[in-house]
Amino acid sequence: MNIVLFGPPGVGKGTQSALLVEKLGMVHISTGDLLREAVKRQSPLGLQAKSYMDKGELVPDTIVIGLFEEVFSKSDKKDFILDGFPRTVSQAKALEGILERMRRNLGKAVFLEVDYGQLVYRLTGRRICRNCNSVYNITFKPSRKDGICDQCGGVLYQRKDDEESVINTRLKAYEEETSPLKAYYQAIGKLTIVKGEGEIYEIFDRLKEVVH
Ligand code: AMP
Repeated sequence: MNIVLFGPPGVGKGTQSALLVEKLGMVHISTGDLLREAVKRQSPLGLQAKSYMDKGELVPDTIVIGLFEEVFSKSDKKDFILDGFPRTVSQAKALEGILERMRRNLGKAVFLEVDYGQLVYRLTGRRICRNCNSVYNITFKPSRKDGICDQCGGVLYQRKDDEESVINTRLKAYEEETSPLKAYYQAIGKLTIVKGEGEIYEIFDRLKEVVH
């Protein structure tokens, strides 16, 4: 089934997406990863996006929608997980048009839900592999060797926007711009809520049940 996976920053979208790719062979498209790659390459789009991302603000819809469509239109036709896109109602509407043009459809919009108090804790502990983007957490999912990726031996780093000073802006952007997606997908009968608390594989089992 094709899904949109959404929820507040730090809820575990990246971690669960990686499992869906590994266990169910789905295609994962993360606009956050795409934007970070564009920043790393210093492409014109990356340079435009960087200032918003560093502050914890959303990158403007026009930039993100264009980037998403370009990548999505070239992606494999396997079942997809969209992670971090859409993040606004206008992106959700644009997504409908893109899916229609590509003759694909969305099965469910899965909202991963956790207690708000846990998010800051999760975000400040997150570490990412500079090479393969694998996600770790110094408390919940540490790498076997400190600072080194289990998958590829790459060096782990802390995202600049996972620093405490930026997290509040990200949570505010989520509340104001992304949380209305819940009502949007509810209204079109696509919303499913999955509890994002507990052990990583416990959450994955809940998720598997709804995406099959
Ligand atoms: P993420 O890795 O999903 O947490 O995204 C990191 C940052 O990239 C966000 O805080 C935004 O600045 C930007 N970003 C990612 N996806 C989107 C999107 N769909 N719309 C706007 N900004 C986005």
